[in-house]
Amino acid sequence: MNDCKNTVRGRFAPTPSGLMHFGNARTALLSWLQIRAAGGAYVMRIEDIDMTRSRSHLVKAILEDLQWLGLDWDEGPDKGGPYGPYTQSERLEGYEAALSKLREQGLLYPCFCSRADILGAASAPHGLAGEGPAYPGTCRCLSEEERKEKERHKTPSLRMKVPDDPERVITFHDQVAGSVSVPASAGGDFIVKRADGMFSYQLAVVVDDAEMKITHVLRGSDLLDSTPRQLLLYEALGYTPPSFAHVPLVYGPDGRRLAKRHGGIALQAMRERGVRPEAVVGWLAFMSGLTLEPVPLAAAELVPLFDMSRLSAEPVRLTEEDMRALQAYSLPEQPKR
Ligand code: GLU
Repeated sequence: MNDCKNTVRGRFAPTPSGLMHFGNARTALLSWLQIRAAGGAYVMRIEDIDMTRSRSHLVKAILEDLQWLGLDWDEGPDKGGPYGPYTQSERLEGYEAALSKLREQGLLYPCFCSRADILGAASAPHGLAGEGPAYPGTCRCLSEEERKEKERHKTPSLRMKVPDDPERVITFHDQVAGSVSVPASAGGDFIVKRADGMFSYQLAVVVDDAEMKITHVLRGSDLLDSTPRQLLLYEALGYTPPSFAHVPLVYGPDGRRLAKRHGGIALQAMRERGVRPEAVVGWLAFMSGLTLEPVPLAAAELVPLFDMSRLSAEPVRLTEEDMRALQAYSLPEQPKR
């Protein structure tokens, strides 16, 4: 063993439910820069656990887009590595083992509630932002008989108990958002396995990040609210949590968060229109606070410029003007250096 070995490890973990757009390209670029600047190992993991949303043909398209941007990875589905497989649908045994650990600690219970039941619960308190009401705990205290009776009619989901203590607060330092403190019970008991047998994102991401020895997680701020629950899982499973950095989302010219509806902003569409990757990378770096001007740059040129403290915590908006500027950096292609 070489004691001086750099143990910094980061990852990009796309869900193959849509093409790469500017928002997830920015997250990928920044997480890659964070790890490359630290001389660490970068992991590509495909989060296809939600099979209703994932499309296998998109995996190839996403990896191609990332390569086009100039990003590379040391371990991944196409490369293998010591902590594979790197595709969640091939890692189900690890999630099942984690559930057993939680079950042994009495932290899980079956839940028979439908979404409508939860929405209809008169006393349901507000949950976490954008998630609807917190789970009111309806099934937490069912007796064995009640559970058996319900099981005859319905397959339950499995929920993880959040701490009862209303005073317990989860605090962590986010490298972009700063200090975050949330009551441990916020959001209520959460699902770790769905009634259709699928493991939840919360469980899978924690098991994978821990088993893949990830030390630095940089991802979109839409997942900031998930972090306290993930920290509860880290604790219950006896894992050391990574450091977190949640970067703001990118909004489209219409002011709405970038999504599939902004088809023209997909990297693939831009690439087909002849936009150069350096134009995209330069724009992303500028909008992220890393450079003073949106000049075209190769991803590798940004590695020495990367400075976490310069990352802006403000959401980014891609305007029509930006789109025209990006297009202006299209063909004729500059000679490769
Ligand atoms: N798979 C998630 C997504 O594509 C990212 C999960 C994470 O980075 O923790 O939004």
